[in-house]
Amino acid sequence: SNFSLPACPADPLLSLIGAFREDARPGKIDLSVGVFRDENGQTPVMHAVKQAEARLVAQQPTKTYLGPLGNVEFTQGVAGMAFGSARARRLAALQTPGGTGALRVAADLLVRNAASRARTGSERHGRIWVGLPTWSNHVPVFAAAGLEIRSYRAIDTETQRFDLDAFGAAMEQADPGDAVLLQGCCHNPTGIDPDDGQWARIAELLRDKDLVPLIDLAYQGLGRGIEEDALAACLLLDTVPDALIAYSCNKNFGLYRERVGALFIQAGDEAARVAASSNAADLVRANYSMPPDHGAAVVATILGDAALASAWYDELEAMRTRLVATRRALADAACAQGLALDSIAHQQGMFAQLALPPEAIADLRENHAIYMAPDGRINLAGLAMSDVERFASALARSFAR
Ligand code: PLP
Repeated sequence: SNFSLPACPADPLLSLIGAFREDARPGKIDLSVGVFRDENGQTPVMHAVKQAEARLVAQQPTKTYLGPLGNVEFTQGVAGMAFGSARARRLAALQTPGGTGALRVAADLLVRNAASRARTGSERHGRIWVGLPTWSNHVPVFAAAGLEIRSYRAIDTETQRFDLDAFGAAMEQADPGDAVLLQGCCHNPTGIDPDDGQWARIAELLRDKDLVPLIDLAYQGLGRGIEEDALAACLLLDTVPDALIAYSCNKNFGLYRERVGALFIQAGDEAARVAASSNAADLVRANYSMPPDHGAAVVATILGDAALASAWYDELEAMRTRLVATRRALADAACAQGLALDSIAHQQGMFAQLALPPEAIADLRENHAIYMAPDGRINLAGLAMSDVERFASALARSFAR
């Protein structure tokens, strides 16, 4: 063959999914996959989504092309909902294939921007600062786009808080124009977000050092609430002139496989914004040409209809409160087992990361049929209330080993 490629190693999370499916033990628990699940372990299509889909089937007049920026009603609806209409007016927007697509287009744009700046001075490919640990796809996406990646320690494991000192020290090393990845809420994999005071300091540091935040907002509404979860992004937009936001609707609308997302660009003045938007469109054209429509049309239909929007909001709130209640229950059950995991109750979103060695993670899988990601990440939504006690006591045995 003309192909001489060595095979890629299997994605450890995907192999876990297969192993879980084949596990015949009753009562097996899957905490590895990053999707929301209800108390029965299901990830149903939201009612508001089903209704919007029915409406689209009945009423959509055409499926002709929309262009590289996608569905404008969708991007305006999401921006208005997330950031308020005044901020939304200042943003260029494009619909993307999921939050991942938005991250990739953002990275491509940063690379092209750095090349453009380099001709008039500094010589660089574009650089992004990434706090670790982070979602396992961040670094591969940025590397594939050709960004230089620099990392810093994001979490102080001792205090279970965002490590503002490490962040500040990293920013001391950054050059003006560097990008800085920040997860807007519900940090994946730790659930540990900066607190309000830390966000204020982060925003000041970015402004003072002339850095460009790339805000990954993939879980709005699953942390403290729809408005609360966008506060950090809004603060950053209000503090720095240039910002990128990669938004995902796949968790908060339960649309996963429909690949719904958006990239929002704030760029100093009107001319810079128009130029950034046209460059993003140009990059998209040479990549996937334009985004798929269906999921974005569903979201636009929901956000454009007061009754559907309110039904969606209620369903999202039920998802969010399930996560909050599961966190509390697990922290309490762990405490009863003598484990100090109370921080789980104060963290946000779907994930928490347990400081378990690989042998303990293997022990939980082999002897208790409890599956978690190799880095100790657990998805709280994978835990039914009725399984909390059993999980906590298995954990206690693993920690004691
Ligand atoms: N960002 C974070 C932090 C995530 O956890 C995810 C999904 O797991 C994404 C972005 C992208 O999600 P999607 O491409 O499905 O919208």
